[in-house]
This record gives sequence, structure tokens and C-alpha cells, in this order.
Amino acid sequence: MATGFEIHDLVWAKMKGFPAWPGKIIEPKPEVKRPANNKKVHHFIFFFGSENYAWIPEENIYLYSDHRDKFKLEKRIPKGFKEALEAIEDELKEKPFIKTFKTKELPSIDEELAQIFPGKPSGSPQKDYTREPLKGKKSMETQNTVRRKRMSNSDDNPKPKKAKVIAKVTGSPSKLTLSPDHKLKPKIRAELPSPRPEHNLPMSPPSHSYIQASLSPGNASASTQIEETLLKVKPVAKPSIIPTPMRIGFLGLGIMGQGMVMNLLRSGHEVTVWNRTALKCRDFVKSGAFKGNNPAEVVQSCDITFSCVADTTAVKDLVFGNYGVLQGISKGKCYVEMSTIDEETMQDVAEAITARGGVFLESPVVGSRVPALEGQLIILAAGERKLYDECYSCFEAIGKKSLYLGADIGAATRMKLIVNMVMGTVVAGLAEAMAMAEKVGLDQEDVAEVLSVGALSCPTVIHKSQAILSQRYDPHFPLQHQQKDLRLALLLGDKVEQPLYVASAANELYKKARRLGYGESDISAVYRAASN
Ligand code: NAP
Repeated sequence: MATGFEIHDLVWAKMKGFPAWPGKIIEPKPEVKRPANNKKVHHFIFFFGSENYAWIPEENIYLYSDHRDKFKLEKRIPKGFKEALEAIEDELKEKPFIKTFKTKELPSIDEELAQIFPGKPSGSPQKDYTREPLKGKKSMETQNTVRRKRMSNSDDNPKPKKAKVIAKVTGSPSKLTLSPDHKLKPKIRAELPSPRPEHNLPMSPPSHSYIQASLSPGNASASTQIEETLLKVKPVAKPSIIPTPMRIGFLGLGIMGQGMVMNLLRSGHEVTVWNRTALKCRDFVKSGAFKGNNPAEVVQSCDITFSCVADTTAVKDLVFGNYGVLQGISKGKCYVEMSTIDEETMQDVAEAITARGGVFLESPVVGSRVPALEGQLIILAAGERKLYDECYSCFEAIGKKSLYLGADIGAATRMKLIVNMVMGTVVAGLAEAMAMAEKVGLDQEDVAEVLSVGALSCPTVIHKSQAILSQRYDPHFPLQHQQKDLRLALLLGDKVEQPLYVASAANELYKKARRLGYGESDISAVYRAASN
């Protein structure tokens, strides 16, 4: 097939989910698999700086000499990027002549973001946005105008009256179905609409990019990267959602927060966001969200504020810190903690919130990046029942199922830690199996296939074995969070003297993976610890 590139050409090459990276076209390494999609022309690229190789489709390659400055990053510069630029510049100086020709424009990170956030102002790059437009976006704009007016003249537009709000919201839980087999009395299962089998979720590894080394070019900060696979993720359509007129706050735009906020906006909720790294708010604001300057301000300006941040330290900083949640809490303000933390901290937060007249719900979630983007999470809740009911339309937007586990704060956290203990041990077991398979002369692809057709076939085993096979560890569930959850589960086991031999061993494997530098990678990178 005729191509515009030759061996030794210096290029910008773009791997899925990562910025364009300085590289060079080289002869393919026989040990690196050719891409499955042979309809597209691919070139074998050596990445400067990280010294990895990968097959990259020609449409994602750009002649360096023609576009020297085009993909230089000014901020959020990933590790290794500067070194890669220096290396390509050095090599360019040594070249006796410079080839120039026009190639197709590569999408920038902003363009990729535009696919996730349709409705950018005109002037934004135009792409084929196949995803649904934001449902309720128009009304959001109207609401925004109204709210801005309200902010400048609060008497003109008083806040919706509580009685009306409650009337609307209490209509929703009529859809709740009590599980016939529940033993704990107040436990309620709410079947949220439009469940879709998780098996259909797209897999994270790309089908046409095969990287040899374990790390992406430059090992860029994972949670700020937008994966192409995820650009294709469409939320499950939920036309029946009637968004609560309550004003919703959301603190934390990490992997989980981003998906949840997107779905809240899509379903027509009025959302005010805040994130420690403020830049992450930008695209949500363009999609109709308000931006708060600090957690206290968000809580003050909203009726219900959700939070989903990394760990116990983050939750404490957020709640008890300067301009923190607590400073915004006054009588009747509602706060929902969705982070996975230890139950003692959860109880301390609940106590502090209620001591100031606030209302508290703990609500960790089950599911990872793709279910968050698709609005298919499982929501576990405990605390104030009335607040759980008031969150109904929000839970409908972000989840496929919600469970109310009673008033006892800590119950939802205990449930979440047990679920993640299972997750952590399963993936650690899979990692060891794949590592051993290789050592006993089996083809890992065969192992993955056998697992995928047998009784162990489930989204986790299928997706994580694919990630191990392709050695792509883009974070869906960051490994450091899994290790945190195992650690918290072990502490819980200590309290009740439950032996946890398997979980303890799995925890050691994740600790080793963190030491090897895979903390921010996906949980499947635990394979690197097992095979090392
Ligand atoms: P993530 O992508 O690592 O994002 C972490 C978030 O916490 C970011 O918004 C980060 O802000 C913020 N943060 C960290 N330290 C902070 C601090 N000291 N003060 C204020 N904000 C801070 O995490 P995630 O995957 O979204 O997970 C969030 C929570 O959900 C965790 O408790 C995790 O265990 C749980 N969870 C995750 C998954 C999953 O599959 N990913 C699934 C279920 C539950 P910056 O942007 O400024 O760094």
C-alpha cells in the first residue's frame, strides 16, 4: 500500500488517549504483533523519551519537520515529553535534508474533549459528534440565565420552595421496588431504568495499537487523559428521568466524578462543580455547569452536594479544611459522600455535618470508568432516608441500581469494601494466572479465551485479561485505589477478627505494583507485580 511516510521519518505520532508524541518510523520488530485492522495503513513507531514502540495508524501520524510546534504542550506536560522533544530535535539537526508534505490534521486533546462535551461554542473544532446532545441542555441554558439573574437580584427569583421540591421528588420513589428477600429491615432496592448488560461495554485496549513496553509514551498522568474508546461511550438513554429542581453541587472531577457529572447534566440537573485542579471544571462549565470557587461556596449555593474524591485524606481536606464543606453547611443543607473511605472517617464526617444542622448520606458506588460514563453505576447508600429519596433523580441519572442499606452510617462503606475485596482478589488471581501461563509455555491469549467462554466469564475477567494481553493499563479503576480498598477491608477484618488470608496476599501484590510505579495505572497492572 502506498504511504506518505518512510522508515526513519521523524514524526508526531498519536496513541489513543495520549497527546501526540515525538517519534520515528522504524522497521517493525517481529516480536510485536501487527495490528488486526489491516484496512488502515499503520507504521511502526519508536517513541523518543519513553523508548517504547507501537503500531500507529497513518492517520494519527504527522511529519515532525512540517509541524514542529503544533503539538508542543504548554501545560500539563507529561513526564518524559521534554526529553522526547530534545531527542527528536537532536536527531533533526543531524538529518542531511528535511522532507516536507501535508498530512491530515490530528485531533487535539481539546477536540477530543469536544466529543465528550458536545455543545461547545462555535469556533470549537467540528467533528462527527455521534453521541446524543445533552438532554435538557436547552433548559439548562435557560436555567443558567435565570440563575444568573437570581444571583444578581435574589428577590426577583426566589429559590424553589421546599414543599414543591419535596412533592416532586417524593413522587419518584413510588418507582422503588422492595426486594422480597431483604432481611435488614430498612434495606430498599431501587431498580433504576434501562439496565444494559455490562458485557457490552467497550474494552479499554485499542484493537489497532500494540505497544511493546508496559507504559504509555511518557507515562502521562492517567486521570487527565481522554481515551478514544471512552469517546465512543454513549450513556444509556433514560428518557423517563424528571430532574429534581434542587440545586446539585459536585465536588471532585476524577474518573468517577467526570462520568457522574456528565450524566447529571445530560438528564437536565442544575449542577455546580468544584475540583481541586480547577482546569478540570472547564469543559463541564461549557456544558452548562456552574463553577464554585471552593467547597464551602458550592455547599452554600446548592441544596444537595455530592463528593467523590480519592481517599480519606482527600475527604478530610475537603470537609474540614479551609473553605471546606463544613463551612458551607447550615440547617437543612444536604451532603452526600460518595468516596470510598474507612467507616470511622465517614462517621466523623456525618457527625460534623449533622452537628451544624446538615443532612448526611453516605453513598459509595460500585462500577468503574465506563459504567460511570454510561450512567450504569450501582449506588450503595446509608444514612438519612429522606435524603436518599431526594437524591432519586440523581441516582437514576448516574446508576442502574441503588440500594438503601439503612440509617446506620458505615453500612454502605462496609458493603463497598467487601465488594472491592472480591474485585481485588479476583484481579490479583487473574494476574498470577496469566504470569504463570507464560512461564509454563502457554499462550496467554489462549488462557484469556478459555476464561472468556467458561464459567469464569464476566466483565472483570474479560476486560482485565485483555488489558494484560495488550499491556495497556489506562486507568479505569486506579490501582492505588484498589490497594487502599484492600487495606481498608483488612482493617475491617481486624475489627471483627475475620481471617482474610486471600485478601492479605492480594494486598501484598498490589503494594508491590505500587512500588513498581503502577499506582496511577489501572488495577490490571497488578500483572506487572505478578510477572516481575
Ligand atoms: P481519581 O480519578 O484518582 O480522582 C481523584 C479525585 O480526588 C480528583 O478529583 C482529585 O482532584 C481529588 N483529590 C485528591 N486529593 C484531594 C485533596 N486532598 N483535596 C481535594 N481533592 C482531592 O479517582 P476516582 O477513580 O474518580 O475515584 C474517586 C473515589 O471513588 C475513590 O474513593 C475511589 O476509591 C472511588 N471509586 C473509584 C472507582 C473507579 O473505578 N475509578 C469505582 C468506584 C469507586 P485533582 O483532580 O485535583 O487531582
